[in-house]
Amino acid sequence: MTLDQLPEIAPQEKKSPLNQTQLERSQGLDFDLAIVGGGIVGLTLACALKDSGLRVALIEAQSPEQTAARRQAYAMSLLSGRIFEGIGVWPQISPHITHFQRVRLSDADYPKEVVFRPEDLKTKAVYYGAEHGVLITALQNCVRQCKSVSYLCPAQLIEVDYQPQAVQLKVQMAGQERTLRAQLMVAADGARSRIRQQAGIGSMGWKYWQSCITAVLKPEKSHLDTAYERFWPDGPFAILPLPGNRCQIVWTVPHAKAEAILALPREEFLAQLSHNYGAQMGALTLVGEPRLFKVQLMQSNCYVQPRLALMGDAAHCCHPVGGQGLNMGIRDAAALSQVLQASFARGEDIGDLRALKRYERWRRRENWLVLGFTDFLNRCFSNTFLPLVIVRRLGIHILQVALPIKRLMLRLMTGLFGRTPNLARHSVEP
Ligand SMILES: Cc1cc2nc3c(=O)[nH]c(=O)nc-3n(C[C@H](O)[C@H](O)[C@H](O)COP(=O)(O)OP(=O)(O)OC[C@H]3O[C@@H](n4cnc5c(N)ncnc54)[C@H](O)[C@@H]3O)c2cc1C
Repeated sequence: MTLDQLPEIAPQEKKSPLNQTQLERSQGLDFDLAIVGGGIVGLTLACALKDSGLRVALIEAQSPEQTAARRQAYAMSLLSGRIFEGIGVWPQISPHITHFQRVRLSDADYPKEVVFRPEDLKTKAVYYGAEHGVLITALQNCVRQCKSVSYLCPAQLIEVDYQPQAVQLKVQMAGQERTLRAQLMVAADGARSRIRQQAGIGSMGWKYWQSCITAVLKPEKSHLDTAYERFWPDGPFAILPLPGNRCQIVWTVPHAKAEAILALPREEFLAQLSHNYGAQMGALTLVGEPRLFKVQLMQSNCYVQPRLALMGDAAHCCHPVGGQGLNMGIRDAAALSQVLQASFARGEDIGDLRALKRYERWRRRENWLVLGFTDFLNRCFSNTFLPLVIVRRLGIHILQVALPIKRLMLRLMTGLFGRTPNLARHSVEP
């Protein structure tokens, strides 16, 4: 789509006729809301609003092919699966991801471990392993079929002007500039969100002393849909099973060590990695080049301002331990879509601070819990202080035998705690 085409394509089709207040609000606006950032989180919100009657612009700087080409895989929670099912994209996703049958949590080479199984929650899987390309392609296809969403891609937001009744966005697409007006702008533009910074929204948090190395491997033996989270003194080491009997590792070590490991000849790299990986899947072959990520904990001081809402990594970031970051963003999108639809149905201004505060109250508190949990896990286990080692190994014994505590932890990790968004309520996938 080009910017010239917008007036014809900008959807006027509404599922239900607009009431008088809604009509007055729409006058002179190109869209009801503009989402900036067409990563998984931005796309999830656009898809979640497809039948809402709201006119949505989705603005993504990279081409669809570029956004889909990111080589990353995620541990995806049961709740995220249910949200995707509520949106209607689950049939496109489910056959191309792994459904974990075991998650094994252990402390370095201590022989005892905690094993999480689907039976613990009476579900069919404990978690999922999904590649970025699979998720984003399903969501992009959904958005393309949706008449109420204008997918502007590649298009870049270059300037914003917040006004009392609207937000004005200057967008560049195929060498043209165009100004769009909407009631609300949603920032899903990632961890280095320029929108958050330019709006003067501060944040709290810290950069970790560790970096993460990710790599995809092909083991000799079957991974049996089993994921591992092994805590070594340097940091957690996760193994995510992927389709085609591949596994992605997320290997956390202090910065200098991470760079040194990455610079090793590939045979030595594999030898060091195999020590943390364990011998359970036989010999390992590297598929593609390993990559390095810096990690941080960040929580925005607020998620909303008049005419602006933040979500996903633009609002918060966490340590990759436990695979929570993207799952929090998907849940933000489901919550925000619910709040916006309720405001719209009541004839309220969806960019008004009072309406947006409902989203912030819902999600900011829940996200604190997850940020705190991931930070606790990382600090408690990346540690050789003897009394702490004794306590956490005792904790492993207790978790393995005390089912209610194990279930509680599992519910927290899989997103089955807190307020469930409506989109996830009618899932047939347990
Ligand atoms: C090593 C590692 C492992 C991880 N593993 C997991 C895991 O197992 N499970 C999990 O849940 N999470 C995991 N995460 C976290 C996860 O990667 C992020 O939380 C998630 O990718 C954030 O998605 P997002 O859509 O918010 O942001 P992004 O994916 O960063 O998307 C932002 C989009 O905005 C676009 N954009 C930016 N500025 C503009 C602009 N001005 N105009 C238009 N478009 C713009 C960008 O092009 C981009 O496409 C991991 C993170 C790391 C570092």
